[in-house]
Amino acid sequence: VSDNVRSPRVSSAPPPANGNTVSQDLAEKQRPRREERPHYSNSQSHKQHHYSHQSRLEHQIEELESQHYLSPSDQVKLENLQDKLESITSRTQSSQFHLPNSSSHSRSDLYYGKAQAQVQVQAQAQATRTVNWEAEQFRRAQQLNLKTDDKIHVNDDREYEYVFDESQYVNYEEDEILSGDEASNQQDPQIAEKGEIEDVQQSLPVYKYKDELLKIVSQNQVLIVVGETGSGKTTQLPQYLYHAGYSHNDTKIIGCTQPRRVAATSVAQRVAQEMQVNLGDKVGYTVRFDDKSSARTKVKYLTDGMLLREFLKDPQLDSYGAIMIDEAHERTLSTEILLSLLKDLTETRKDLKIIIASATINATKFSQFFNNSPILNIPGRRFPVKIHYTKQPEANYLQAIITTIFQIHLTQPLPGDILVFLTGQEEIENLETQVHEAVVKLGDQLKAHGKLLVCSIYANLPHEQQQRIFEPTPPMARKLVLATNIAETSITIPGVAYVIDPGYVKQTEFNPSTGMESLLVVPCSRANCDQRAGRAGRIGPGKCFRIFTKHSFDHELEVNQKPEIMRINLNSVVLLLLSLGINDLIRFPFLDPPNKQSLIKSLNLLRSLDALNSRGALTSTGAKMSEFPLDPTYSKCILESEKYQITREICIIIAMLTESANLYYSPKKLGRELVLKRREEFASKQGDHFTLLNIYRQWSNVGGYSSQWCQDYFTQYKTLKRARNIYEQLIKICTKIGMKLNPERDHIAEDDASNDLLVQKCLMSGFFNNVVKLSPMGDCYQNIDPKKNKTPCFIHPSSILFKKRNPKPRFLMYYELILTSKEYMRNCLILDDRVVADIVDKKSQR
Ligand code: ADP
Ligand code: MG
Repeated sequence: VSDNVRSPRVSSAPPPANGNTVSQDLAEKQRPRREERPHYSNSQSHKQHHYSHQSRLEHQIEELESQHYLSPSDQVKLENLQDKLESITSRTQSSQFHLPNSSSHSRSDLYYGKAQAQVQVQAQAQATRTVNWEAEQFRRAQQLNLKTDDKIHVNDDREYEYVFDESQYVNYEEDEILSGDEASNQQDPQIAEKGEIEDVQQSLPVYKYKDELLKIVSQNQVLIVVGETGSGKTTQLPQYLYHAGYSHNDTKIIGCTQPRRVAATSVAQRVAQEMQVNLGDKVGYTVRFDDKSSARTKVKYLTDGMLLREFLKDPQLDSYGAIMIDEAHERTLSTEILLSLLKDLTETRKDLKIIIASATINATKFSQFFNNSPILNIPGRRFPVKIHYTKQPEANYLQAIITTIFQIHLTQPLPGDILVFLTGQEEIENLETQVHEAVVKLGDQLKAHGKLLVCSIYANLPHEQQQRIFEPTPPMARKLVLATNIAETSITIPGVAYVIDPGYVKQTEFNPSTGMESLLVVPCSRANCDQRAGRAGRIGPGKCFRIFTKHSFDHELEVNQKPEIMRINLNSVVLLLLSLGINDLIRFPFLDPPNKQSLIKSLNLLRSLDALNSRGALTSTGAKMSEFPLDPTYSKCILESEKYQITREICIIIAMLTESANLYYSPKKLGRELVLKRREEFASKQGDHFTLLNIYRQWSNVGGYSSQWCQDYFTQYKTLKRARNIYEQLIKICTKIGMKLNPERDHIAEDDASNDLLVQKCLMSGFFNNVVKLSPMGDCYQNIDPKKNKTPCFIHPSSILFKKRNPKPRFLMYYELILTSKEYMRNCLILDDRVVADIVDKKSQR
């Protein structure tokens, strides 16, 4: 592979949380990424491991061979597995040398299509490797005799040892320097950060601009504030506004919006602390399905989506004295709609103060949008950051990250924390486990270099754990923060001197080939990468390690991230705007108008959900739907459930579906078999929706909502607790809009076949676009809608129906599509032919 070609920057979502591919993926990731190095091993246990590895390989091969359809990447995978098996059998029989396989799990072999060529090249390389294997092994065996044991390799009975020495390091080349700020050298922020609250507040860059800022605010209705991440915008500005009297003697609220829940909750907590009040009292937050605010709350942090919903109740936002739209540069859909609505509001609410805060410099756009309102630039404190690129594309970026972490820890001086940007909870948890394992194995080796404290931050992390990332790192230790891109601009982590950036982000994207939205991991933009790098320059000169090549940065990455309005479906927003009485969407003052086609698509969908009448006006159903903070598809199902008297069941299913991605966990110590067996107890033959219902019912009725029950059944307590919270709120909304609720039932839905049919029918009222039929070959599923693209879809390995073979269900409904190696359907439900016939009838009528 030449220097300037890297593995395609099209990637996959992290491996599924459960299912067969996981053990394999984990095994793949644990393998040292570097060159094959023989290790002498004479322990019996090692041999046993070969056997268990062997049986696992055999199992995986069987699993693949039993599939009717194999994508090119699957084929290569199969060949690789067969090769491995062959080499392992010969090893266990005749030799004591352990030769880790070099073909590491690469992103490219998960991706097929554009990467086919690459996969073929890999396949060829694999073939050559196999031919050379014997000769190579002989050579290595000879070499081995010459090697002394001065390298750090930690032997235990694992299949693969962690080997760590310079020859294993990732090769980086140094490139440009992201320049710092003059102001940065004048103070030592670290000292200030450790001081009392007041000292910390006064050490923040915004502090010096407090008077100027308040003066501009008093003279202008709208102000754009641009400042480096960590300069104090989010935590300080609302406080300044509050103390300057914009709460009008506590009769009005100072609101501050955040695109992310975690940012809203964690910042609110911090500000409550700074103002020395209890959270939920004077300072509070409101995010979807979680409200820590009260009538006394005057400084309120909320997600942009929640403020948007407040427009429904309070179209003039009369309860607000000032509003700060934070992180405007992120250009989330809700933020952009808010900007438009606020622009409109400036006409009628002359007293409302508006601050638009942004981290990057595209502030002129916001200023122009608000009739050239003033811009206040707050020079941040930023030290220069050296950027390092990998010399070559790294096939396995997770492995490269781990190597880089230890590379930094073993070679760079203390203090200096490490921040790693990952794509989501699963990836973070995965990496955390691997780092812990490596720490244990490298034990003595690390001692001289200080402790490595691992902590993480992502959307669903409980509060107490979130707070850990802000705790100062003790002396002779290094903090390792594994974060999603929440740490890019929303949350400032003190003490970071090293950033590791694989250059990916997970986001919802509209997939033109399926006409559907799916959640996928995509390369982030150059602007994102530079933001991320900037995080390394807060306490002193920093370093950023990019796990991709300079060429890739220059030629493959977009300059800026596409605004969300261009990427996702507009259903919720269109419904909301219509409920606000904004009917002329084509002339609505968008910051950047969305594609007309997407608008029309959403209008059509809302029409088929009966939210709009034939003249395009909101119906009473539509008005009720907009009460739910859910995608219209889901709220439609809830409304429909009244007719069948199954509202409670549907609300449980929907609450569980929204949380289902983090429901299960598999304790490492116990075998997967046991975990699966326990899970089977709730499995419904009908599929995941009923399984989720069963789990919830068992947890509530038998387990008494306890955490012990969750432990017993390998489900995550915090996930179920959240689902309960969501369920209760949905029921509250149902009551509020006058729906008649069915009595609580405690039986398992599956006992009652007619009930099942009702649930199916009800779900179909919203999810009618997610119906697929088994293909004629029986190898995959395809949408029943002839107008939709015939992209093959597959049951996600986490599904209860994944293993169902004889007969394969003819019709399925899925909850969501996830594009990894192929288009996977997560959460599937078997549909009765009669229900499908109904759908087809209805579709043809439309
Ligand atoms: P900006 O919005 O300009 O990026 P912030 O107001 O978020 O800046 O951050 C200002 C300072 O407050 C940073 O040094 C950050 O580390 C600190 N901070 C923010 N949240 C917390 C928290 N929950 N605990 C401790 N410190 C925090
Ligand atoms: Mg901020």
